[in-house]
Amino acid sequence: MKALTFQGEGDVKVIDVPKPAITGSGDVLLRVTLGSVCGSDLHILHGHTPMNAGAVLGHEFVGVVEDVGSEVKRFQPGDRVVSSFFTSCGHCALCRKGWFNQCVDKATFGHGEYFGGLGGGQAEYVVVPNADNTMEKIPSRMSDEQAIFVGDILATGFFGAERAEIKAGDVVAVVGAGPVGLMATMSAQLFGPARTYVIDMVDSRLELAQELGGIPINAKQTHPVETIEKATGGIGADSSIECVGLLSAIDTAIHCVRGGGTISMVGVPSAVQGDFPYLRMWLKSLTFRAGWCNVQKYMRPLLDLIEAGRLHPEAIISHRMKLDQAEEAYRMFDAREATKIVLTP
Ligand code: NAD
Ligand code: ZN
Repeated sequence: MKALTFQGEGDVKVIDVPKPAITGSGDVLLRVTLGSVCGSDLHILHGHTPMNAGAVLGHEFVGVVEDVGSEVKRFQPGDRVVSSFFTSCGHCALCRKGWFNQCVDKATFGHGEYFGGLGGGQAEYVVVPNADNTMEKIPSRMSDEQAIFVGDILATGFFGAERAEIKAGDVVAVVGAGPVGLMATMSAQLFGPARTYVIDMVDSRLELAQELGGIPINAKQTHPVETIEKATGGIGADSSIECVGLLSAIDTAIHCVRGGGTISMVGVPSAVQGDFPYLRMWLKSLTFRAGWCNVQKYMRPLLDLIEAGRLHPEAIISHRMKLDQAEEAYRMFDAREATKIVLTP
């Protein structure tokens, strides 16, 4: 089958690899119908996330079930499904507490041997282990494009917004208007903020953020913390959602919130080294939350919100390309020439 593989820092290639097959009783084999390129793939591309050469990439995908292991209960061949970007067993102590992202048996798709050795979804086929606790069925009237982000960036944006503890009438600052920031902006609206500032340096992304209910701040043109302070009578935002994973963005997220406020960080700090501002956190009684998204908890409610027409995650898709063009897709996404790219095998 065709698949996009990591070859080394800055180098990805579509090549022929053996078609995977189910080996475990809880596995499902999916024929991928849509995959996408995520900001986390850029961490791999830049060598900030460890990855072995030859591994198949891609962790955001939907597909049709082709084969199921003997113990799979929730799925059968022909089902259309969306997968979380990582697997969970569903029965370890932390899964039973609802923290699927802390599962003892967690493995991440398209991240090579360091993250569990799973295949990826930027391919024609992928095997999903622990499928009963990792995937959801897609409602029949919902398109692949509407459903795909439930397994990663939409869940992450929602997780970020929920953990920012937004109350009706609040001022929220979303740092980063990449796909995750845009999903956080969209999700934040469900909690009733009065104003949602969105900070980035890419105008096309900021324009999209505005369409989703955000107030754009271009950090190249004005200082984002000062701008938010000025707009809030010198107080600052009630909460911030950090959606970048760089020190400069984390700094903005911490400094733009008021005393007693909440910072909710979802960007992956794969190359961040810096001192945590303990004194500021203490003086201002700030709450700092960070985390790998607990996707499995959110997939069903997010599918319900999309089906009800309250979320339109597909609105951020800027480019539809073929898997054959995945190398160019990575270049375009990395260069911010594309906001979100989906790939069809
Ligand atoms: P992306 O790289 O496309 O977007 C990042 C955006 O941040 C870009 O638009 C960039 O211009 C902007 N930016 C850079 N520095 C900034 C700064 N100082 N202030 C404001 N904006 C700045 O990536 P994405 O797909 O949107 O993902 C964002 C982050 O979320 C990545 O680190 C990704 O790995 C992470 N992520 C985390 C989870 C999770 O489980 N927590 C899940 C998915 C993605
Ligand atoms: Zn991702």
